[in-house]
Amino acid sequence: MPTTATPPTPLDILGQVFGYSDFRGPQQAIVEHVVQGGDALVLMPTGGGKSLCYQIPAIARQNAGHGVTVVISPLIALMHDQVGALHEAGVSAAFLNSTQTQEESSALEKQLLRNELTLLYAAPERINTPRMKGLLGSLHERGQLSLFALDEAHCVSQWGHDFRPEYRSLSLLHETFPDVPRIALTATADALTRQDMIERLKLEDAREFVSSFDRPNIRYTIVEKTNATHQLLRFIESEHAGEAGIVYCQSRKRVEEVAGLLEDAGLKAMAYHAGLDSSLRQQRQDRFLREEGMVMVATIAFGMGIDKPDVRFVAHLDMPKNIEGYYQETGRAGRDGLPANAWMAYGLQDVVNQRRMIDTSEAASEEFKQVMRGKLDALLSLAEDTRCRRVALLHYFGEDSLPCGNCDNCLNPPKVWDATEAARKMLSCIYRVQQASGISFGAGHLMDILRGKATEKVLQHGHDKLSTFGIGADLAEVQWRGVLRQLIAKGMVRVDPDAFNTLQLLPDARQVLKGEVSVMLREQAAGASADRRKKTTKTSAKGLAEASLNAGALERLARLKAWRAEVAREHNLPAFVIFHDATLRAIAERAPQSRADLEGISGMGAKKLEAYGQEVLRVCRTES
Ligand code: ADP
Ligand code: ZN
Repeated sequence: MPTTATPPTPLDILGQVFGYSDFRGPQQAIVEHVVQGGDALVLMPTGGGKSLCYQIPAIARQNAGHGVTVVISPLIALMHDQVGALHEAGVSAAFLNSTQTQEESSALEKQLLRNELTLLYAAPERINTPRMKGLLGSLHERGQLSLFALDEAHCVSQWGHDFRPEYRSLSLLHETFPDVPRIALTATADALTRQDMIERLKLEDAREFVSSFDRPNIRYTIVEKTNATHQLLRFIESEHAGEAGIVYCQSRKRVEEVAGLLEDAGLKAMAYHAGLDSSLRQQRQDRFLREEGMVMVATIAFGMGIDKPDVRFVAHLDMPKNIEGYYQETGRAGRDGLPANAWMAYGLQDVVNQRRMIDTSEAASEEFKQVMRGKLDALLSLAEDTRCRRVALLHYFGEDSLPCGNCDNCLNPPKVWDATEAARKMLSCIYRVQQASGISFGAGHLMDILRGKATEKVLQHGHDKLSTFGIGADLAEVQWRGVLRQLIAKGMVRVDPDAFNTLQLLPDARQVLKGEVSVMLREQAAGASADRRKKTTKTSAKGLAEASLNAGALERLARLKAWRAEVAREHNLPAFVIFHDATLRAIAERAPQSRADLEGISGMGAKKLEAYGQEVLRVCRTES
């Protein structure tokens, strides 16, 4: 590294190495603090740009002669690509994990001792081996241990959803090398987890940088489930044909089913869950990252650290457990800042299932269950909310905001109706049936009674004689389902998993029966709503992203994409590591004639300009 001229500033590095002209949000403050040797705790949403917060300090501190930055990350399966991306940008980096041979590890150690690396990625379990400790000790003695970056730092806490016991021993790093600065990063904002993380990692003195959790380019939509897979297909076909996305389902079985269904419909889809063996999982993850327009149907086992920038949609076919989970998962869409969709279908069965999982979980204490119920309720209110989804989401994370204009409720304001009377009818019907027959019944049967449907079962039990028979004929079944969902969510009705999912009244039902609380619900326009919504929100991700390009630019873009795919294959890296879509789009639009035309394009760092500039110009000039 040259030391004569004034060293590049963090902003210079951002431009020269990564090809970006501005820092995002608090990136600059974080980078400057860490370059100076300060400890930092960074809370930033998924896609907020955490990597640069330690990569730029690593480069700046290596330039200043401080040696290597050690990045501790649980994402072994992604290290190859992460390091590959740094190489593409001209940064010397390597990773150390259990997939390497003895020879590879020793070669790497030599490189480290020669101070040839700027970043070293390592899994937490590697850090604690005697050999690694010895190596770190030697580096430290030579003044070549610059910084520790603890990625996905919430893994240290059992309150977070990705607890990794190996993370616990990372506090040793600080005890052994107290003078080496540390930066810990996470996208988990939950207060309990945050506090635990600070204590466990001994980060009490670190400066905290909390970003806004808003992801303005993501459009949130939550629809009532009628025929989930059909709705999903319609959503993908109308808004995301040929684009990459993730579909989350609750169970492995459902994942397989839905993946098969999408494939039958002609989409490129794959299943991913913890029941598949690890080589198959790795293979599918690689395909998702490397191939265009792939849809991954997965359980929550998939996604942590997936930094694919052009995931255009995240769909939930089943309701997650809580808002933290929902937000983390939907955050995987649109990391490149281009328009993206977060779409969820939810229904009565989801509420029943989630509620049951909490109630029947044997490991948890009653106190823990109570916390989980509260979190589930918060998600349900989000789903039923008639106000801006973003305002509700950000409020949950402690932020105030104004209606966004980019969620389903802002775009198509739903009506609310006073469902208090209906709720009372439902509750008294449950009560009467139980009283008359001595046993409980399920949701379908109760709705039949309310709506005055003299089914065989109704007649058989004499339920057509009840005073509540037919008192709810004025409402459609979807409306009744909405009412019931709320009553279950609010803990007034229980679905008994041990008795054929029958409904039972809980003590809190009294509040509604006595008229002490009212129940307001969003109006469900039976069936028609989904289609109407589709029309008015047709400014889909794809529409917005490519609409502005003229025919010539579109053609150049297609050629550039084909060229990029070839380079990516040769380098065994995902295409976005070579250039993001947004960068290719900017090139296509500019119709560059010379190298100078390529300078200043976002994502075009010095190394990439040098390595690919000529090729890009050639591809752009080619007449088809
Ligand atoms: P996180 O780890 O917080 O989820 P990443 O570090 O993967 O997010 O960054 C998300 C995306 O944003 C990446 O594709 C990255 O290249 C891009 N990015 C980050 N910072 C900037 C910036 N200052 N300007 C432009 N793009 C950026
Ligand atoms: Zn909104």
